[in-house]
Amino acid sequence: MMRGVAASPADRPDASGEGDPSIIDELVASAAEHAVTPDSPPRTPRPARRVAVVACMDARLDLFGILGLEPGDAHLIRNAGGVATDDVIRSLTISQRKLGTREVVLIHHTDCGMLTFTEDELRQELLEETGVKPSWAAESFSDLDVDVRSSLQRVRTSLFLPHRDHVRGFVYDVDTGVLREVE
Ligand code: ZN
Repeated sequence: MMRGVAASPADRPDASGEGDPSIIDELVASAAEHAVTPDSPPRTPRPARRVAVVACMDARLDLFGILGLEPGDAHLIRNAGGVATDDVIRSLTISQRKLGTREVVLIHHTDCGMLTFTEDELRQELLEETGVKPSWAAESFSDLDVDVRSSLQRVRTSLFLPHRDHVRGFVYDVDTGVLREVE
């Protein structure tokens, strides 16, 4: 494999004993190859299609493929669950007020990791293991549609967002590839 950076002996996957092989080396090598491709990136930070997508960080969600987006088209804001947290509102505020987006798409998905634990379970686990409670809420959920509606409500009622007429929420089915709108 081509490497974009000089590898020290400890970086080699077969180095025994020390320096666990890290996938980051592969990512960096990919970036080095990407840098020489002829396709030039868009020259503006303002998304061409003036839309922001808030989605779960789930590794199976290829947002570019699902939504037919190209680099430069949209802001992609991702976190565990695709929940409209305060930090998502922060990003949307900047997206709309400083970078020109006008519409918001929210995407949750089936088989989400956020469906597998409760808020109390995680808080208790963290407290027992570390002695402190997190300052943040995990925002896990037990019903996808209910949580999409909750996030929609947070975006639609945020006074910081000047553009709230086109805010729509969806659930993506990871088995069928179908994107279903939540009314
Ligand atoms: Zn998820």
